Amino acid sequence: MPYLEVTFNLPIRNTYTYTTPNPVPVGCRVKTILGRRKLTGWVVGHPGGPPEGVDTNKIRAIEGQVDIEPLFGSSLLELAHWLAELTMCSPGEALSSMLPGGKRESRDLTESVDGDEDYAVDELTGDQQAALDSIGNLSSGWFYLYGITGSGKTEVFLRAAEAALSEGRDVIYLVPEIALSHHLVEGLKNRFSGLVAVIHSGLTPSRRLAEWRRIQSGEARFVLGARSAVFAPLRNPGLIIIDEEHEGSYKSGASPRYHARQVAMHRCRENGARLLMGSATPSVEAWHMMSAGGLQRLELSGRPAGGAMPTVSIVDLKKEKALLSGELVRSMARVLGEGRQVLLFLNRRGFSYRYSCRSCGEELHCRYCSVPLTYHKSTNTMICHYCGYRSAPPSSCPECGSMEMLAAGFGTERVEEDVSRLFPEKRVVRLDTDAVRRRVVLETTLREFRNGKIDILLGTQMVAKGLNAPGVKLAGVLSADTSLNLPDFRAAERTFALIVQVAGRSGRFVPDGEVIIQTFRPDAPAIRMAAENRIGEFYDYEIEQRRLLDFPPFSRLFRVVIRGKDEKKVFRTADQLASSLANRGKHWKLMGPAECPIGRISGQYRRHIILRSNGFDHTHAALGEALNRIPPVYGVRIEVDIDPVSLL
Ligand code: ADP
Ligand code: ZN
Ligand code: ZN
Repeated sequence: MPYLEVTFNLPIRNTYTYTTPNPVPVGCRVKTILGRRKLTGWVVGHPGGPPEGVDTNKIRAIEGQVDIEPLFGSSLLELAHWLAELTMCSPGEALSSMLPGGKRESRDLTESVDGDEDYAVDELTGDQQAALDSIGNLSSGWFYLYGITGSGKTEVFLRAAEAALSEGRDVIYLVPEIALSHHLVEGLKNRFSGLVAVIHSGLTPSRRLAEWRRIQSGEARFVLGARSAVFAPLRNPGLIIIDEEHEGSYKSGASPRYHARQVAMHRCRENGARLLMGSATPSVEAWHMMSAGGLQRLELSGRPAGGAMPTVSIVDLKKEKALLSGELVRSMARVLGEGRQVLLFLNRRGFSYRYSCRSCGEELHCRYCSVPLTYHKSTNTMICHYCGYRSAPPSSCPECGSMEMLAAGFGTERVEEDVSRLFPEKRVVRLDTDAVRRRVVLETTLREFRNGKIDILLGTQMVAKGLNAPGVKLAGVLSADTSLNLPDFRAAERTFALIVQVAGRSGRFVPDGEVIIQTFRPDAPAIRMAAENRIGEFYDYEIEQRRLLDFPPFSRLFRVVIRGKDEKKVFRTADQLASSLANRGKHWKLMGPAECPIGRISGQYRRHIILRSNGFDHTHAALGEALNRIPPVYGVRIEVDIDPVSLL
């Protein structure tokens, strides 16, 4: 009987040997029993016999074959091994993340709305044409389309895709979040019809598999999707596009913790393909690479649809009594009076995010996480945004018994209430994950806003991303500080990007856009430079800060999180790991172990160790060895995150 080498979607690095009555190709899934569990695994090899020293009689037969045709060909299997090695996960975890789905139950969210207006582009601007020419001049390489908001990057991406397809090569187009890209999906389907496959998390496992097969067969040659679409099984990848390159969602938050940009770079190198990234607010790494070489910079500077950069003013919240400042309310009234639209951005869901006692100051925290609970008025509950814990708002202080509990700090729900009261005759819509339970609601809202049927749109991240609505005259950032105050070295970079992006939603078609940025820290460089549109200056400043602190892009970070319910075990494991990495060479600096900024989530204590490395391969190898030496501790999980985007 032939033997199969099988890997599982488990954090176990070694593979297992099974026998099979029929030959099963590498890249297929098989049903097996591992220990006492029924598990589906991936066939990754055909060993000639059982591993050395293992009794042939002890080797189990598989329970069944899942796929007839392999889901992964040799180049994707190689990619999986590269990914597993790089991110320190098992090959099975890598393969499972490349073809996601089936892990969690998913609903089919593909209900669709149509009737979108389209803005056809007849003639390219000089900048756009020059960018395309540069891309066309080289058959491979890395390009960065740096263009201000509204400068027409999408059109360049689409034309570059057309060119690649006509050269007989296949295209991947990555977007941060497919749910926010409905407009683009419709446009693509019009332009590339049957060649397009859209991969997103709303697909049922069977639909996803069907799309996968369409791509494998060569029927679909243009894949649009979020992060994991970077693994699409195209036959001849020739162009990978990363739209809004700076977005954090390109980094996976679960094992394997990869960055789509990193995978795209690797795939392009392996396939002699072009990589084309773009943003109005490149990541600091990308900006640095553009000046250091290795990444060819292409620039778009105007707004071809007739807009211009908006005028921006900063409001100091220290001088205001409410989150809707006098200046903001006056501007809103004026703009709405002209029949134009307003966009408001606030990075906090819920009604209020602090609930504290007036007498003793006690603040209500989640029982399982070290974060405050958020009050949601519509459901009259206190909710933890990290673990989902819910409780009724207390009628008295749990600490001192005082009846005077005070809700403070504004969330979107609260602002919606205030705005509706101030402008009762205007149509106000709130867009956040609480308001949008169904994809179709999101699509409808975005379309109605584009078509001018909503006067004021208020929301979280969702409204900051790529919204292209002609009627927006005023964009307001209600509190620029929320992200700036996070204990994370990327806080400034993120705040800067957010402000520039939100501001970029106004004045896209008419050159009279206005932006108001409210903040308690009007002098913070990230806020001031974003407001004054001093883009290059901000990057110079931020890169200098990183140089002084020896943070990325001048070093690379390896973060290890140790978590578990038993605090002592967590401490002990973290200390053990740290001591085996301390003072062991010149290639890295050890920071920690320390409590993570969010010290507890879902009842688990969290500590982390950070290695700041100046020799990636050495550090990678040493960390791998150190982790192998640590004996497994029951109830303690160790997670490795290389090049983390968040340190919370
Ligand atoms: P970005 O992604 O750079 O923020 P978009 O790609 O959304 O900008 O383009 C902004 C608007 O400009 C869109 O409505 C688009 O149709 C329009 N546009 C793009 N290129 C041209 C062009 N060459 N002539 C006229 N309008 C254009
Ligand atoms: Zn109290
Ligand atoms: Zn919680």
